[in-house]
Amino acid sequence: MTDLASVTCAGCGLLCDDVIVDSSGAAVRLRPECSLGAEWFSQRVRRSAGAPAASIRGQPADVEAALSRAADLLRGARRPLVHGFDWATVEDARAAVALADRLGALIVPGGASGPWPGSPAVPLRGASSATLGEIRDRSRLVVIWREDPVSTHPRLLDRLGFGVGATPRVGADATARLGAERRLVVVDDRDTSTAERAELQLRWPRERDLEALTGLHARHRKLALRPSDLAAQLDGLLELINVVPHAAFVYGAGLVSGRGGQRRALALHELVRALCHDRHVVTLELPPATGTRSVQDVLAWQTGYPQSVDLLSGHPELVTATRPLETGEGVDVSLRVEGAFTKLPDAATEIALSSLPGGSAGTEPEVSIRTAAPGVEANGTAHRLDGVPLALQAPLRGAGPTAAALLTRLLAEIEA
Ligand code: SF4
Repeated sequence: MTDLASVTCAGCGLLCDDVIVDSSGAAVRLRPECSLGAEWFSQRVRRSAGAPAASIRGQPADVEAALSRAADLLRGARRPLVHGFDWATVEDARAAVALADRLGALIVPGGASGPWPGSPAVPLRGASSATLGEIRDRSRLVVIWREDPVSTHPRLLDRLGFGVGATPRVGADATARLGAERRLVVVDDRDTSTAERAELQLRWPRERDLEALTGLHARHRKLALRPSDLAAQLDGLLELINVVPHAAFVYGAGLVSGRGGQRRALALHELVRALCHDRHVVTLELPPATGTRSVQDVLAWQTGYPQSVDLLSGHPELVTATRPLETGEGVDVSLRVEGAFTKLPDAATEIALSSLPGGSAGTEPEVSIRTAAPGVEANGTAHRLDGVPLALQAPLRGAGPTAAALLTRLLAEIEA
């Protein structure tokens, strides 16, 4: 492999667009250093060795035959599901929504098993949000709630102006101006790499997050409260918030996934709304996958809702249920678009359009077509975790089709 220069890394939702890829040694390395990004590029460079372009029931097939079989399955589906999008581009998501609309499908960003992915807190109530640049330049207090971006989004703290001994890539003036007044607080009872970098760590178990958020809200409104062992920590955090003109809460799956996640997300946004009466307070959500923000934005443009949407009735309906998919939706055909393998409802037949193989022996999709890896073999557009659109390059352009091209072909076959 030759050296790749100045590309956008899609190893996480941060989409760093200043990355130099060095493949001169045995392992791929990135400059600036990022082991997560290096692993992401290596996986996609390695993955093509020997894999067939398409398969039907685990047997190699040509792409045309696989497309035709996929079209037959989708045409006959009673309750199709379109899901995944972990590393999808905006173009992939647009084509998927168009196909889902034609099929009357359920469309779900993320996996198909476990708690229903996504919280409807944002579409129901809206959110105060900001770009990375605004947080870096204006937020004097950043509260990271039960996330460990040093592991999951390794350059985030640097991009927010909390780098270790390094000059921030941009915004150095603002960082110098704010100087020691900027504070990083972590809410987490785990000893994480991010917590080590924080000025203050607040500890309580995850099950008490709702109590903490509603407690902060009540304390801010000076309501009479029952005694709580969290009182000192909550008052300390409110004191820090009350002395800054601009603060940011960074959160993600640690707060909003699983049982009660929607309520916790609503509590956070309600708290932020209340705090905004006296100062500017914003939120930044860390997405579970690189493509999450892209598909959410496409869903918002095309259906009005940035989360799971049901198109069965002929018009978009926001999915607000929290039960797992495998209990009750009756999905019979699942179309996975650039997504990791997830457990499906037992009766579902799977079609996978993906640049990475998924599943293991015995769990192969009925139809699988390998796509060109976005950001390595195919270019496209992706939305950074704060919604900023960025171009993905194709430094190792591959011959395979993109998921967007395959989805467009499928739609044409179904409509023919
Ligand atoms: S922080 Fe994320 S986007 Fe940036 S280089 Fe690392 S893996 Fe890539």
